[in-house]
Amino acid sequence: MADYLISGGTGYVPEDGLTAQQLFAIGDGLTYNDFLILPGFIDFTSDEVDLTSALTRKITLKTPLISSPMDTVTESSMAIAMALMGGIGIIHHNCTAEFQANEVRKVKKFEQGFITDPVVMSPRHTVGDVFEAKVRHGFSGIPVTETGKMGSKLVGIITSRDIDFLSEKDHDRPLEEAMTKREDLVVAPAGVTLKEANDILQRSKKGKLPIVNDSDELVAIIARTDLKKNRDYPLASKDSRKQLLCGAAIGTREDDKYRLDLLMQAGVDVVVLDSSQGNSVYQINMINYIKQKYPELQVVGGNVVTAAQAKNLIDAGVDALRVGMGCGSICITQEVLCSCISVMACGRPQGTSVYKVAEYARRFGVPVIADGGIQTVGHVVKALALGASTVMMGSLLAATTEAPGEYFFSDGVRLKKYRGMGSLDAMEKNNSSQKRYFSEGDKVKVAQGVSGSVQDKGSIHKFVPYLIAGIQHGCQDIGAKSLSILRSMMYSGELKFEKRTMSAQVEGGVHGLHSYEKRLY
Ligand code: GDP
Ligand code: GDP
Ligand code: 5GP
Repeated sequence: MADYLISGGTGYVPEDGLTAQQLFAIGDGLTYNDFLILPGFIDFTSDEVDLTSALTRKITLKTPLISSPMDTVTESSMAIAMALMGGIGIIHHNCTAEFQANEVRKVKKFEQGFITDPVVMSPRHTVGDVFEAKVRHGFSGIPVTETGKMGSKLVGIITSRDIDFLSEKDHDRPLEEAMTKREDLVVAPAGVTLKEANDILQRSKKGKLPIVNDSDELVAIIARTDLKKNRDYPLASKDSRKQLLCGAAIGTREDDKYRLDLLMQAGVDVVVLDSSQGNSVYQINMINYIKQKYPELQVVGGNVVTAAQAKNLIDAGVDALRVGMGCGSICITQEVLCSCISVMACGRPQGTSVYKVAEYARRFGVPVIADGGIQTVGHVVKALALGASTVMMGSLLAATTEAPGEYFFSDGVRLKKYRGMGSLDAMEKNNSSQKRYFSEGDKVKVAQGVSGSVQDKGSIHKFVPYLIAGIQHGCQDIGAKSLSILRSMMYSGELKFEKRTMSAQVEGGVHGLHSYEKRLY
């Protein structure tokens, strides 16, 4: 091996570590835990590191993070939060086409500051219901309409100040006795700008501003707390009309064409063909169909883990590839052995999958999404260093405020449900996830995922900035000032890796302490 001279100083240093090519030439399948990246030279601060990266051939993100199309991870509030922070959310399809399209519409119509689907109650709801909502959602400013739904006539508002001094014995009182009535409310007309709304709230000195249409029906509310925060999202992922970007998952059946039409009407920017083994005639036919009907729509194919699988989808015209099989935290595809179902016993350790597919796909300008198996921010850095352009996460984003579902307590720990889309639990909800994990003729269901729970992680608005800062620190240690530099360092062989023995993995974790507290941000 050639020695090389560093910065004209004291002399030659021997070659150290393995190039990515050497690392994967060994032939063993590697997970993210099986190797490390050797540090490089730092001549910039970590916040200068540019994380801009391609999601598809035509869409670029400022943050290379994607939330997975799972029914315990991505619906509109996750997709909005991810897009605001420069990533993107892919709305799951374990629901009707109408529900899914409506979630996409909420993301595309999102206007900062306006809450368009607030919790609403009717005058017949009780004070107890408001206390319960406060515990469940964390807020108690609730508009009251005739039917208790959006789009119905506004009749009042109930807020924390209305119930603060009420006790247990008042819990059965109806809201019409406790609320501030419509005639005393300051409201704003639909179409009001955020600036005008701000002025009205300042003058009224109230905490909430209901927005009503010409028929006095509620269309949105604005919270003073949000205006005060007046957050700026310089990284936000937006289309040419300044609307947030949104993705959605679909299957490859005949009725998915109807789903696709609804998603297009809602303004979806990218569709992900959701299959655990994407190298199929069904997926190729679907890609052809979409490319013919909606040539501008970006299509992500997958999942694949080999170059041979990738080739067929690239030939069919995909704009990005989703890589990963059997590496998800909730996944048991690799362990379930059953000769009658094609994907069983198939899969590949994720490090190898990402490297092999990305190395092939880059020749055609097709970006790779590393999907699944991300347990820490270090894994994100490793995925990107192996050639992935973006990273898709399920469990890491589960149990955040923005993930669907409600928190519950178990043994004093605040949890949210997280389940594999191939778990029996998810498959019983709707048949679209059955299609991903079953063939039509299967009589016996074999689960390819499990259902569990994850501890409360707080809001994505705190968690994603932590991930971004972590990726930037990782790149700084490596000596890469941007993700494109990181990838070119890897392909040129400048980036060096090293395999990690079992004891090296133990050494890399916390050890030798009697007990410790793990706080990450
Ligand atoms: P409240 O006075 O108890 O309603 O709470 P705040 O107004 O101080 O905070 C409410 C926070 O929750 C704001 O950041 C809102 O944007 C957010 N939020 C999200 N969904 C809703 C909703 O349906 N209703 C209300 N009132 N707030 C919501
Ligand atoms: P809080 O600080 O979270 O309790 O919420 P607000 O500042 O919005 O509300 C304070 C009180 O004013 C409560 O009794 C509300 O019912 C009432 N209120 C809210 N909006 C209006 C309004 O537009 N006009 C009047 N007169 N009262 C309101
Ligand atoms: P995680 O980030 O939790 O490790 O993995 C999320 C990924 O696992 C998803 O994006 C999806 O590709 C995959 N996945 C989701 N549900 C299932 C399942 O039930 N079985 C399998 N095999 N994979 C799943």
